[in-house]
Amino acid sequence: MSQPAPLTTRRDVSFLASSQGLTLGETALPGPVRDPRADSLRRRYHDVFGGDELPVPVESIAEDLLGLAIHERELDGISGLLYPEKRQIYVNATDVPARRRFTIAHELGHWVCQCLEGRGATVMCRSEDVSPDTDRTLEREANVFGAELLMPESAVRQHGVNPEAPQLLGVSQLAYQWRLYSFDLAERPT
Ligand SMILES: [Zn+2]
Repeated sequence: MSQPAPLTTRRDVSFLASSQGLTLGETALPGPVRDPRADSLRRRYHDVFGGDELPVPVESIAEDLLGLAIHERELDGISGLLYPEKRQIYVNATDVPARRRFTIAHELGHWVCQCLEGRGATVMCRSEDVSPDTDRTLEREANVFGAELLMPESAVRQHGVNPEAPQLLGVSQLAYQWRLYSFDLAERPT
């Protein structure tokens, strides 16, 4: 007598989805929410320079590990600029520190995921591009990389909804909320 085929429950599907960094339902973020290139960059930095793991030393990763100079300027409606040939990043000096950190991580996403893969054009990132729900493919790739770089999954799962977590990681409340949401650990930010 044959065994009945195992049922695939919603819970199974939910587990599968979350194990791939996805969430179910209409509000799911499109595409992956993890980027192993960011993890390996962080590990490479600490192998060379050591130091505290959190908050992730994003400026030093850019300048000391990758040789990219960071400049702060007032930029109207722009969060950040990347000049690949000059190896320069410009960050909007009027943004708050957590935002500037995320912008640097985002520009590193453009550098690692796109420039090092052959795209050499200047990148100009509007404020709305440096946002977790952007729908532009290259911007989204840079955002996923930036989130992964600044908010390692192990740290996010360890701290969960701890209200001090954003400060520990040097990110905004909103960025942290999106990261929790991407792992199905919190509601979608409103
Ligand atoms: Zn961008």
